Amino acid sequence: MSKTPIYVTQPHLPPLEEFIPYLEQIWENKILTNNGPFHRQFEGALCEWLGVDHLALFTNGTLALVTALQALRITGEVITTPFSFVATAHALLWNGIMPVFVDIDPKTLNINPARIEAAITPKTTAILAVHVYGNPCDVKEIQTIADHYNLKVIYDAAHAFGVRWQNGSVLRHGDLSVMSFHATKVFNTFEGGAIVCPDAKSKQHIDHLKNFGFVNETTVVASGINGKMNEMQAAFGLLQLKHINEALERRCQIDAVYRENLKSIEGLHCLDYEGQHVANYAYFPILVGPEYPLSRDSLYEKLREQGIYCRRYFYPLISSFSMYRGMSSARSGNLPVAEQIAQRVICLPIYPALDDMDVKRIIEMLRLR
Ligand SMILES: *Cc1c(COP(=O)(O)O)cnc(C)c1O
Repeated sequence: MSKTPIYVTQPHLPPLEEFIPYLEQIWENKILTNNGPFHRQFEGALCEWLGVDHLALFTNGTLALVTALQALRITGEVITTPFSFVATAHALLWNGIMPVFVDIDPKTLNINPARIEAAITPKTTAILAVHVYGNPCDVKEIQTIADHYNLKVIYDAAHAFGVRWQNGSVLRHGDLSVMSFHATKVFNTFEGGAIVCPDAKSKQHIDHLKNFGFVNETTVVASGINGKMNEMQAAFGLLQLKHINEALERRCQIDAVYRENLKSIEGLHCLDYEGQHVANYAYFPILVGPEYPLSRDSLYEKLREQGIYCRRYFYPLISSFSMYRGMSSARSGNLPVAEQIAQRVICLPIYPALDDMDVKRIIEMLRLR
């Protein structure tokens, strides 16, 4: 019996016919990029939907991360997490900054604030934390440490689209927050990203940096890069915003079905994150415990044989890749929690088009029936 493969995620796409009028508009305007009408409209609409005051759109999240570090003039060493997508640390290396990995909290899987202080040296300039799976970091504690040591705080919020924490967007914390609208994320513009900034002045600076440093036709104020989002991406983003609520609702339903059923499967554990936040159900990570009859990797292989393509986010740890593993913070024993979680975690498929039958089938397989 051959079935269509199920991947860990599938991009959420609006009905094709709804995109045609946007394309016609672009063909009529003949403005393809450089802060065009859709770009401006999308920035405004996103700020409103997210509940933030200012943001700058980017062509992808990684360029946004690289630019955020430039905007704050970060140098030296930056404290970060090994448990993330590799772009988090790569953005530091691209700026000539040394990542210093700190272990994660076993409950939230985010950087453990209690481990940060011990990693601070005279060269430390910032903390680059990640809201892993969209679960908010301990933003209060991180800010307290940053204030005490005069460090900047950047959040890699690539997973945190729409996440709210204590009556506001989680994106309002830190000096800057960076988003990704990559095809695999909760909200996509094919590729895309943004930096959420606290004020108009920092947004303007970032807008210059993403456009080669130009402030007008003849003046260049910085060695900027080309990080501009184009009109096609921005138009698509505007259309996607019209469908985001239904997408989040369906994700929430799937999350609830998994959670309910996993209670009765010994050895498989949902994250025991007790955040007082509005989640976006971006991922459905589970931890495979020693009581489960299969190892994490055997389960992963078994599901693949049945056409269910899960992902072991985040295995391997960033600190184990060749360009990082020689660093002293990557040494064995420094990151015990991250190492253990990376061996046990597996993310189950979750996306709006995943239907109830698929979810049921996946659960039956987890029951090893
Ligand atoms: C996806 C992702 C990025 C990179 O974003 P792109 O838009 O793909 O460049 C960075 N950090 C994390 C944690 C991510 O998941």
